Amino acid sequence: MRAAKRRGLLVALALGAALGWACGDDEAPETVAPAATPEARLREAAASVDDARLRAADAEAHNWLSHGRTYDEQRYSPLAGIHAGNAANLKLAWQFDTGLTRGHEATPLVVDGVMYLTGSWSVVFALDAASGELRWKYDPQVPREAAHKACCDVVNRGVALYRGRVYVGTLDGRLVALDAATGELAFEVMTVDPTKAYTVTGAPRVVAGKVIIGNGGAEYGVRGYVSAYDPGTGELVWRTYTVPGDPSQPFESEALERAADTWKGGEWWKVGGGGTVWDSMAYDPELGLLYVGTGNGSPWTKYLRSPGGGDNLYLSSILALDPETGEIRWHYQTTPGDNWDYTATQHLILADLEIGGAVRKVILQAPKNGFFYVLDRETGEFLSAEKFVTATWADRIDPETGRPVPNESGEYKDGTAVVMPWYLGGHNWHPMSFNPVTGLVYIPAQEAAAVYGLDRAFRIRDGFVNTGTDFSYSTLFQREAVSGHLLAWDPVAQREVWRHPHGLPWNGGTLTTAGNLVFQGTADGRFLALKADDGKLLWTSHSAGTGIIAAPVSYQVGATQYVSVVAGWGGAFALIAGDAAAAAGVTSRGRVLAYTVRDEPLTVAAVESLMAARNPEEVRGSDLYHTYCAGCHGANAIGAGVNPDLRDSAARIGVGLAGIIRQGIPGTGMPGFGQWLEDADVEALVGYLELRARE
Ligand code: CA
Repeated sequence: MRAAKRRGLLVALALGAALGWACGDDEAPETVAPAATPEARLREAAASVDDARLRAADAEAHNWLSHGRTYDEQRYSPLAGIHAGNAANLKLAWQFDTGLTRGHEATPLVVDGVMYLTGSWSVVFALDAASGELRWKYDPQVPREAAHKACCDVVNRGVALYRGRVYVGTLDGRLVALDAATGELAFEVMTVDPTKAYTVTGAPRVVAGKVIIGNGGAEYGVRGYVSAYDPGTGELVWRTYTVPGDPSQPFESEALERAADTWKGGEWWKVGGGGTVWDSMAYDPELGLLYVGTGNGSPWTKYLRSPGGGDNLYLSSILALDPETGEIRWHYQTTPGDNWDYTATQHLILADLEIGGAVRKVILQAPKNGFFYVLDRETGEFLSAEKFVTATWADRIDPETGRPVPNESGEYKDGTAVVMPWYLGGHNWHPMSFNPVTGLVYIPAQEAAAVYGLDRAFRIRDGFVNTGTDFSYSTLFQREAVSGHLLAWDPVAQREVWRHPHGLPWNGGTLTTAGNLVFQGTADGRFLALKADDGKLLWTSHSAGTGIIAAPVSYQVGATQYVSVVAGWGGAFALIAGDAAAAAGVTSRGRVLAYTVRDEPLTVAAVESLMAARNPEEVRGSDLYHTYCAGCHGANAIGAGVNPDLRDSAARIGVGLAGIIRQGIPGTGMPGFGQWLEDADVEALVGYLELRARE
């Protein structure tokens, strides 16, 4: 396969040189330590990822070992081979099509040249990180009916890697452990009550020797919790509920007994209460604290959920847990008595910041409610919060109490209210990133309003959405009414430093690097590199052909640094905002894209050595293709979107393609090549195209 890639490179180089454009491939030497088989290589790479390595993940600049790269979830890569001075030379190194449609939200993990990621429907892939070649694929066969319980598409945000195993949470609620070398099932365990509307879309984390996994479903009505499992056996170690259950039953903990005092007058437990832990986690091994974010209430509206008022702990909160027991050590609630689906499940980042002359260990969050929070992560003490987008439901956060000062315009008990941010948030799950050099946080921010109204005829509908709000008011989905931007935010000064506007909301997560760069994909399918300090746009990719919502990663194999992102339009906004997506022209096909820079100028010697390495079996078809076809259909049979991509044609039509090549397609620019080519030539051509299609 490596040889095939080199041959492709040769042709690209030769044609690229002829046409005067630079080639987009790399020619990194085989750099991963040679092992007997690819399987042995995978086994070697994954087996040694243990607690010590996960704790010290930052020292492995070439790897991306856990979801946020490191336990502090900063999504900062110390690699600087790609930097602000050469980012304009970024080129596509490889592309891998997942063969799946719908939203792709995964952050890939990379360990020693192997990449692990998920597509939609919780399908897991292991790829060669330098070539994109598939090593194995595991499809957990999620029953398609599970989609009915998924508010926000059949997405998955990635895997955890530990001691030779890959862990994934499946949409239907299973924790699945796979052999990292082969993709074979080690065990699976159901983590939810399958009769209820739970789903799992978040990436599990391995913390203190346990697999931590949450779940979602608060739009339908569930009781939120987070669980820890033994990574070897799949046994449940602990489970912590985030909201009190049926008051006729005993409390599971003192923390829930205290929380129950903040729920008043309703029968929330019949709907579930909500507070699901569906995405963010972070871990401070020194403090021994696991942080999780909790979601909105079930139902959404406090008028039905808790008509007597109250904060409704621990909805919309950041919780610090003891990872050994699951005990809640402290909590901070971002939206007391949430009424607008203002989850605090958004990305949590741990950082050490100098605030007021002292270095503080802080936790940062930009939850849906539109305020950027800085808390002391040891104690949960509120330090500061300011609006990072337009937020009308509260005027400010009182610095003395750490509580919002609500604005009456957010109330809708007796009518409707137009409120900003909307229920998809000023920031949603799309990960942000923190660059310790610039001191800035890069937030995929969005501006939009929603009309909220109380569902006066509310009744619990089992298995269906139970928000208690009247969606007939709907959201303003005119394209003018929603927008997104990349926001660079100073968490110490609590102010905007720069922004880069996008047409649409629902853009990808961010990555920042030691090369003074920020990377972000966009809803309309572009991948951008910007200068981290001042936001100058340095590079824009060719269209990914699909919207990008996931967050990029960076890693290195041998001497080559890559930036990779999973593309695939979908998720909550995509499901409901048809007109906006249609305007962007995006489709829903999943693929992994990896980019690198090529700084070295092309040399004659380099091309000659590549020519010498050509595989004689393929030379004829490739030569014929580049003589007769490439001028219209693209070098290496990669279509540019102008004329048909002949790899697709070969995959669809197979040998029938020979007839088309011979006879042409009347009424189009495709002539019959039978007039110039012998049958054996056509056969060689089709053989080449079929090979490229398989690659
Ligand atoms: Ca929600």
